[in-house]
Amino acid sequence: MTTGPAPVPGPQPLLQLRGLSHSYGAVQALHGIDLDIAGNEFFALLGPSGCGKSTLLRSIAGFETPAEGEILLDGEPLTRLPAHRRPVNMMFQSYALFPHLSVEKNVAYGLEAEGTAKTEVRQRVGEVLETIGLTKFAKRRPGQLSGGQRQRVALARAIVKRPRLLLLDEPLSALDRKVRAEMQLELKRLQHEAGMTFVVVTHDQEEAMSMADRVAVLNAGRLEQVDTPVTLYAAPRTRFVADFIGTANLLDGTAVAGGISLGSGLVVAVEHQLPAGSPATAVVRPEDVSLAPAGSGTLEGTVVDTFFLGGTSTVSVQVPGLRAPFTANVRAVQVPERGSRVGLVLDAARTVAVADDRDAGAAAAAAGATQGDARGAAQETVSS
Ligand code: ADP
Repeated sequence: MTTGPAPVPGPQPLLQLRGLSHSYGAVQALHGIDLDIAGNEFFALLGPSGCGKSTLLRSIAGFETPAEGEILLDGEPLTRLPAHRRPVNMMFQSYALFPHLSVEKNVAYGLEAEGTAKTEVRQRVGEVLETIGLTKFAKRRPGQLSGGQRQRVALARAIVKRPRLLLLDEPLSALDRKVRAEMQLELKRLQHEAGMTFVVVTHDQEEAMSMADRVAVLNAGRLEQVDTPVTLYAAPRTRFVADFIGTANLLDGTAVAGGISLGSGLVVAVEHQLPAGSPATAVVRPEDVSLAPAGSGTLEGTVVDTFFLGGTSTVSVQVPGLRAPFTANVRAVQVPERGSRVGLVLDAARTVAVADDRDAGAAAAAAGATQGDARGAAQETVSS
């Protein structure tokens, strides 16, 4: 996860998206997207399949014309410029390489097509192959390379033209796990060294979180949150983001003063600004929970499973009244027996409250039911 400070967008961001909306027939793929991306930023568009990531990227590239809104680069409208006239390049999957051309010819192709002088082409291709660690493979054809090397060639081909902005659509999805992890570091290093702005589309939250300075989380064509990886994890602003990023215990209930009521007199203490009585969710990361003897926790339940992970173990606890088992990560030496009763100690300062907006209609009905509990029980707020 990137822990450094996010680049502060300057007075004028490199890329500005203003009210972008787009539909394919009856399907609205983008709903009024507003987004600023700074120069030299490594930016990720993250979300589940079908949320509109590719439509957004293709709109920036010029392969799609959004029905509404504007795209500005350095403050100048891009929206009406055709793809080939934009100072923007798109990295394609490695299967788009020319199979009959060598690595260096593949990389040189775009520059030659633009009429760049031969000596300059040779110099720039040489530099890029060096940067990307492919110099000794320059004479090979794509078929004589591993998947990871082919992906590097695709990347070299995209960066040799030194675009202001490089767009990458699921650049690592064809690679196996180990090569993918190597390439994530490689991409980050390259982006940093080349001083380019990268916008990467991915559905893999670990990938987005490990590479990007900032991440935009998209859901059904809308931006849920745009933040640094650390903030998305520690301070999700919506239930969707809390659920999509990392592992979280989502305790759905009703906002009450000083916490969230889970019904049956149970209240999880958490500071929030939500209207009293509205559907709300307490978000608790597994590492922010500690186990205690039965009778002394915030919540209490029965251990249904334990998973040994090395230094830590994951303990699954069934808490009466909660739909899903509660997950806690504890040091491996503290693992309780399956079937034992344990207390779960939550830390109010590490619990996050978000509106439960899954389904306004259903949530309103549920709120009606749980509000009764909240009023009737006159609960004591449980805190640790
Ligand atoms: P993602 O990249 O996040 O998977 P897309 O931008 O590809 O999402 O798609 C967003 C929505 O638009 C989806 O519902 C998808 O089915 C629809 N869609 C995308 N491209 C087309 C198209 N050419 N014709 C019709 N529907 C499309």
